[in-house]
Amino acid sequence: MSTNTHLAATLAALLGPQGWLSGADANAYSRDWLDRYGATPLGVARPASTEQVAAVVAACHAAGVPVTPQGGNTGLCGGAVLEQPGGVILSLSRMTKIARPDPAAASIEVEAGVVLAALHETLAEDGLIFPMHLGAEGSAQIGGLIATNAGGSHALRYGMMQDLVLGLEVVLPDGQIWNGLRAVQKDNAGYQLRRLFCGAEGTLGVVTRAVLKLYPAPRIRATALLALPDVPSLLAFGKRLRADAGEFISGLEFFCDLGLDMALRHVHGLTYPLTERAPWYLLVEMTAGSPLVPLDALFEATLTAGLETGEVLDGVLAVNETQRAALWRLREEQPEGQRLEGPQLKHDVSVPPGLLDRFIAQACELCEHMLPGVRVNPFGHLGDGNTHFNLSPPLNAPGFGDLAPELGREIGALASALGGSFAAEHGLGRAKVSLADALRATPERALMAAIKQAIDPAQLMNPGAVLHTPGTNFAND
Ligand code: FAD
Repeated sequence: MSTNTHLAATLAALLGPQGWLSGADANAYSRDWLDRYGATPLGVARPASTEQVAAVVAACHAAGVPVTPQGGNTGLCGGAVLEQPGGVILSLSRMTKIARPDPAAASIEVEAGVVLAALHETLAEDGLIFPMHLGAEGSAQIGGLIATNAGGSHALRYGMMQDLVLGLEVVLPDGQIWNGLRAVQKDNAGYQLRRLFCGAEGTLGVVTRAVLKLYPAPRIRATALLALPDVPSLLAFGKRLRADAGEFISGLEFFCDLGLDMALRHVHGLTYPLTERAPWYLLVEMTAGSPLVPLDALFEATLTAGLETGEVLDGVLAVNETQRAALWRLREEQPEGQRLEGPQLKHDVSVPPGLLDRFIAQACELCEHMLPGVRVNPFGHLGDGNTHFNLSPPLNAPGFGDLAPELGREIGALASALGGSFAAEHGLGRAKVSLADALRATPERALMAAIKQAIDPAQLMNPGAVLHTPGTNFAND
């Protein structure tokens, strides 16, 4: 019996028919969300407990077989699928337990396979929220969100995933379990290990459980969609809002008319609520814990100033939950609209927020120079300076030819030159490893390789994600 056949038999016996999928049953797990990456796995392990995760990882370690953790498989950089055939995909989808929230500590313990939207629903009755929101929340899992250090639309107020994790339990690459499930904010007992696993993209171990930070549920909201003439106006009005009501802003999301057009044409059930279309749009949400805060009045005063200065052309304030949800859908369906339009190139960059106008102007010019007629669709998180600078090919052109890598390098290099990042919130996965090697200084990449080597000397945890595996020379992007 070959080592791999023996390993498959061991894992099948350990996990049972629900817990070990092979052959055609594994197909649904083997390609990434954008269908760009993936190789045939030996099988998909679906353990139901931390002990089973540890047993799977230990068996793979003993057999020298790579393991790639997989959550909801909504990651946009190809990190949750295999680079080479024959490895094991370890899906956390059966680990979905949610403990009762602890109101005094404002925390909750969950298993890694809990889907984000399910956590939101569970908390709805408790007067508490877990304030992470993103378009993929119906599928993305807590483990995946931690492993990618996800950001989303509320990061401006509540931080990224690393700011929302108090404690972690992780199965290490040799199968040992590290239990760091401490529900405390203050824990300076040496290196901040939990932060190391936030953003490690499954290359240092498998996150199995987490203690997450909760916040009081807002009791009032003001949500508005505004139409604006240009990017400098977006920045000016964003600055004005932050000065007037910064502590209440929970979302400050922008998109452009091209993106709106694609979403309206392709996504069912969207409606545009203003009479005239505009070049740019800003979705503003302000929330407060007390109904005594005059949110609507605060917002309207700032809006009036924005209209008077010409920063804002028009706007609508949601008057009920249905309208609020409809406004948010216009923003959340931006990725789906562009996906349904056809081929696209995604770039997830950040720059210091005050330089967003300069970045967008220079990047548009650069793209037009490289591929005349290219359709640029920047949208994202205004307050974080985080743009999804996504491209669709010129009208009637089938795609980007062989320009994709060069466009990615140039856009990433421009963001870096402005003091930002070529990988703002989606991580590196397999898609941006070469870009990271090119754009980050050698000591930074060497430090990462040293951490990887120290924790996973056999290089079996998700090889090829975040860092090239030593001795290989894959052209990932
Ligand atoms: P997966 O895709 O399954 O995995 C992602 C990475 O994490 C892989 O490297 C995988 O190996 C690793 N991993 C998964 N689970 C574990 C685990 N338990 N332990 C260790 N490693 C693990 N991202 C944002 O940050 N902000 C957004 O606003 C946003 N919007 C999105 C909108 C859409 C429509 C889509 C499709 C994606 C969006 N994303 C966004 C990207 C994506 O949703 C996030 O990266 C999310 O965190 C991935 O979670 P997942 O469970 O799907 O992880």
